[in-house]
Amino acid sequence: MMKNIAAFLLLFTLCSSAQTLYTPYDVQKAYKNGTRTPEGNPGSKYWQNHASYTMYVSLTPPDAQLQGQSQITYFNNSPDTLKEIVFRLYPNLYKLGAERDFSLSAEDLHPGVDFTSFKVRGKEQLTDENTSFRQSETVLTIKLEEHLPPASSVNFEIAWNYPLPSKSNVRMGRYDSTSWFVAYWYPQIAVYDDVFGWDKIPYTGQKEYYNNFNDYTVTIDLPESFCAWATGELQNAADIMPDALLEKFTAAHTSEKVINLITKEEAEKGYKMKGREGRVQWNFTAMNVPDFAFALSDHYLWDAVSVVVDSTTMRRALVNAAYKKTSKDYYEVADFSRTIMAYFSHVLPGVPYPYPVMTVYNGQGGMEFPMMCNNGSTSRGGAFSLAAHEIAHTYFPFYMGINEKRYAWMDEGWAVMLPMDLVLEHFPDIDLRNRNAKAFNTVAGTEFEIPLYIPSQQTSGSAYRIHAYTRPGMAYYILRDALGKDNFDKALREYMKRWRGKHPLPNDFFYSFNNYLKDDISWFWKPWFFESGYAELFIKSAVQKKNDLTIIVEREGNLPVPVKLLITLEDGTTISKYETAAVWKTGLKEKKYTFKVSGKVESVLLGDLIIPDKVAENNFVKLSSTKK
Ligand SMILES: [Zn+2]
Repeated sequence: MMKNIAAFLLLFTLCSSAQTLYTPYDVQKAYKNGTRTPEGNPGSKYWQNHASYTMYVSLTPPDAQLQGQSQITYFNNSPDTLKEIVFRLYPNLYKLGAERDFSLSAEDLHPGVDFTSFKVRGKEQLTDENTSFRQSETVLTIKLEEHLPPASSVNFEIAWNYPLPSKSNVRMGRYDSTSWFVAYWYPQIAVYDDVFGWDKIPYTGQKEYYNNFNDYTVTIDLPESFCAWATGELQNAADIMPDALLEKFTAAHTSEKVINLITKEEAEKGYKMKGREGRVQWNFTAMNVPDFAFALSDHYLWDAVSVVVDSTTMRRALVNAAYKKTSKDYYEVADFSRTIMAYFSHVLPGVPYPYPVMTVYNGQGGMEFPMMCNNGSTSRGGAFSLAAHEIAHTYFPFYMGINEKRYAWMDEGWAVMLPMDLVLEHFPDIDLRNRNAKAFNTVAGTEFEIPLYIPSQQTSGSAYRIHAYTRPGMAYYILRDALGKDNFDKALREYMKRWRGKHPLPNDFFYSFNNYLKDDISWFWKPWFFESGYAELFIKSAVQKKNDLTIIVEREGNLPVPVKLLITLEDGTTISKYETAAVWKTGLKEKKYTFKVSGKVESVLLGDLIIPDKVAENNFVKLSSTKK
């Protein structure tokens, strides 16, 4: 009986903890339908749709016209009969008159993706009588003549073309007359999911991913003087690479040291692949990935090395860096990326890098794709930090299929937080915690500081930046400190295990942590993820009576942050005290600290540069002046 009561109490605690957070009606419906559970698990009836893409694409630089053909098979695993299929036409960001978050160079604008054929189940749709297409810029909805029942598939055969941009490079584009990074580039079937149905949020430039997990077989047809790098594994290296390059490429797959596959001297001479009639077809395949991107050049340098990413199986991943000879930082990028991938695989999050390859391509800014990064050239430390951020995205939003259009903080926040300790270890002058705390302090407490629970597509400009990156990055870091690294890391890995290759929502994340740790972390989730607000602690009083020092720290801001005290005595000795944000767990508004001191106290300092705090001036109290 006692056992039963205990079991009941445990169940009651778990159920009640699962209900302490606001759960939108759509998500409650998913619980009822059995596709998700209030314990933060995918439900027994969880489903997701996917597609298989076979694509052929050709480009002849410096001509920017991309010619493509796709054969797509889309599988309906949902319990619903689909009457329409929604496609995304990302290149229409550059369509004349399209809605955009940024202004683009007029010479990059075009009339939109030009379809020369669009067959559904073998039947050409581009006829004068066609009434099945509804297009609004980046979203194309196709009414199916014959509906798509559950557990069935539909085929599409599409031929299209459009010019790639050369000046306004939003996540992709041209980086010199013959070097391109090609992404957001092919007609792609949108996500149809268990909570929101078809995702029809248009692509306007700033909000990024929400993709199905698909299979890709892609042929990239280029002049023989070009190299291609892409998502997936190259299938025909032996057919297209000259012997010397092939030998180095093969060796790099198991090499512990960086190999210069194409040296500066070789790049200056120009490449020559084994072409037919002057052209080469690069064949790549990638299974169960949320996107496919590729890059090319006829004069970039190419370094490669490998790294063990799974210590159980000793599986290795190949690491490539493709770059301009003038990018000084890039000569170390392959080696940096190897260090970064080892850290993510073995330390934090401590999940083996899931792909066979990673290529960091010298483009512009910093942008992640499965197995690819498009990164600009920067300082040495900047290159490490940037590669760490973009490679961290492998886990969020790719390994975990995050809906970044709605919840950018569920992936950008992790890409900010996961590399913090790693970057500091290798570049002590780059403290990302400090940078984030500083950025947050300026916005926190203003009307531009928007609760994380508000969907990302409702935010823009600097509010988006804080919402997607700064605040969640700090929240994860502070929570790890509060829960203890070991506990936090285990809960994170459990969440990742439950939702890898799936589409978690915010409640799935919160409830997975609560459920795994058997702890209701609402004291942290609510202020940091559901409310506006700021962090603000101050020294309410600091009084010394003989050998007793009493300090009262007051919490004025709603966000729980750690308490760090540094007491300096007149003789120069110091006493420090640190408590994690968990000190505020029970809702305390102030905390009293008492210390035995051996002499006169000169000053008390609260906080430091890595703990966000709105007002710095009230964190220092001088008790006496030194008589020296
Ligand atoms: Zn990012």
